[in-house]
Amino acid sequence: MRVDIVSIFPEYLEPLRLSLVGKAVDAGIIDLHLHDLRAYTRDRHRTVDDTPYGGGPGMVMSPVPWGEALDHVRADEPSVRPTLVVPTPSGRPFRQATAQEWSDRDWLVFACGRYEGIDARVVDHFSGREDWDGVCEVSIGDYVLAGGEAAVLVMVEAVARLLPGVLGNENSAREDSFAPGEMAERVEGPVFTKPPQWRDLHVPDVLLSGHHGNIEQWRRAQADARTAERRPDLLGD
Ligand code: SAM
Repeated sequence: MRVDIVSIFPEYLEPLRLSLVGKAVDAGIIDLHLHDLRAYTRDRHRTVDDTPYGGGPGMVMSPVPWGEALDHVRADEPSVRPTLVVPTPSGRPFRQATAQEWSDRDWLVFACGRYEGIDARVVDHFSGREDWDGVCEVSIGDYVLAGGEAAVLVMVEAVARLLPGVLGNENSAREDSFAPGEMAERVEGPVFTKPPQWRDLHVPDVLLSGHHGNIEQWRRAQADARTAERRPDLLGD
């Protein structure tokens, strides 16, 4: 999968070269490209923002460098249509199902906003372009960050661990919270490792029993109980 990220702070995305995602990049599973939006400005001050039409506080990111940057990225790979992802608190919620869906795509391009966000015409323009595979405006939660970079770190990591060959054990993604199937609307229960006793706390007996059926049943019950307690919203009516 190809991943391009455009930002005024491309170095903010350098952690993608570490750990699990970094290994996927090194292995060629992810073809990562970071771009500095300011490289697509034309003025001496490398300006990327301006005052909002209609007044109000803050600054809005200009569509001009965004258009140039995204056209430049697009032109790099004519045979594949990229999906443009624009993180914004007003977007549709980014969920595990979103990560799952994106993990099948060939090319994701992320546009990191700052200030009051990106001029709305950028999304309108690229949504209508046939050489792009749509635009997704997504939110990673009901809070406001200073910029899209942290949201992109979250989303790329969530997608990367679903790509074939990235996780050491593919089963771990299948049993995770929110995984498709039985776990889709549940969170995982508690997990334990050695030693069997730590301080005054013991690992539940069932996990030491070696009885796979009972262990499975216990895990399911724990996931249900935890979901009911912490995430009743997932259980619907
Ligand atoms: N004025 C915007 C609003 O109220 O919706 C907030 C802009 S925010 C200060 C600047 C940038 O941070 C956004 O353009 C977006 O890229 C990013 N951002 C902030 N919160 C986010 C969230 N919850 N999910 C995804 N991106 C977010």
